[in-house]
Amino acid sequence: MLPINCLETTSAKMREQPNIAVIGGGVVGITVAKLFQDRLKNAKVTVLAENYTEDTTSHIAAGIFRPGTSFKGPTKEITKKWLNESWQFWQDILKTPDAEQIGVMTLGAYIFSKENYHVTRNHLIEDLVPIYRPVTDEELKLGPKGTKFGSYFSTLKVECERYLPWMGNIIVERGGELINRKVENFASLSNYDLVFNCAGLGAKYLCNDYDMVPIRGQVIKVKAPWVKSAFYGDIDTYIIPGLNGVVTLGGCRGYDSYNLNYCKYDAASILERCCEFLPNLKNAEVIAHKVGLRPHRMPVRVEPELVDGVKVVHCYGHGGYGVMTAPGTAIDAVEMGLNFLRSNIKNKL
Ligand SMILES: Cc1cc2nc3c(=O)[nH]c(=O)nc-3n(C[C@H](O)[C@H](O)[C@H](O)COP(=O)(O)OP(=O)(O)OC[C@H]3O[C@@H](n4cnc5c(N)ncnc54)[C@H](O)[C@@H]3O)c2cc1C
Repeated sequence: MLPINCLETTSAKMREQPNIAVIGGGVVGITVAKLFQDRLKNAKVTVLAENYTEDTTSHIAAGIFRPGTSFKGPTKEITKKWLNESWQFWQDILKTPDAEQIGVMTLGAYIFSKENYHVTRNHLIEDLVPIYRPVTDEELKLGPKGTKFGSYFSTLKVECERYLPWMGNIIVERGGELINRKVENFASLSNYDLVFNCAGLGAKYLCNDYDMVPIRGQVIKVKAPWVKSAFYGDIDTYIIPGLNGVVTLGGCRGYDSYNLNYCKYDAASILERCCEFLPNLKNAEVIAHKVGLRPHRMPVRVEPELVDGVKVVHCYGHGGYGVMTAPGTAIDAVEMGLNFLRSNIKNKL
């Protein structure tokens, strides 16, 4: 946060039409752009992105609300705030008649393990989601042979295939623009009053941020409308049903891997592990194989910085949890952006 004496509450910038750029057309950039418009109606918001919709990492994600227990903001309190506010954001959409059209749905999920009780627990959401409980003896039989531990929880899922175009349309209807452009550096955006950096893995290069690490993931999208609950198992195995009977089968995590090519060995391993849960999946029609690089950073970076005289608010590094946590981080980024815009800071923070 900026020191209070840096704020000019009656700043001319707030009265004119401030010119705002958002780098990134994934779930984080699109959410920040829309939430900024919500807060400052007279702002001219331009999204600048190399890729949109199906060419983003966001589009590949199953989008389930289940953070890894290592998901981290700068403090425990901020981590919790991001999760709570994100959950509330998605709940508000679920209450509307458009939820399905926007790509948001409720979902029940099982998490099983043959070896480790702790992987079935999640301190970050046990007091947030409506249900998080141990499975019954009967439910334990839903896991593969040898399953010893299990939990059931109620959660939600967001399909970026629908969410991104829906939010993008709102941004444009309000006078914003979505432009195809690769940003080489922040200095090239000196004509903007404020820039949000939501470039995901691209932020590694824009900021020379060596804490940014890709974590490679591969999934199989299959048609299996009979799958009604999500299942998690050992060795990063998951089965996550979505809208229109499309189910995401995963997964794998390749730390520091930049390989965006499909790997047939990963696909075979994923299918074998998922069929241990639900043998019928081997007959499911394969719709697509997808590979993405999770933009991992510890902690996720949400903070203002003056770079080459340009006011920049960073919001990147959400790793494997950026769909679910985009709104909470975006709310903080937008607040920082509004304070930054009002300030007359000319030197480094
Ligand atoms: C297999 C897999 C499964 C996943 N499952 C889940 C899940 O179930 N739940 C969940 O919450 N998350 C999940 N994730 C993680 C989630 O996909 C990411 O955390 C999220 O998509 C990050 O969003 P983002 O907007 O930061 O990045 P991206 O979606 O990668 O978007 C980055 C944007 O920045 C643009 N960009 C980058 N550099 C520049 C530049 N220099 N100039 C202009 N534009 C630039 C890109 O073109 C793109 O538009 C999963 C990820 C993978 C790979």
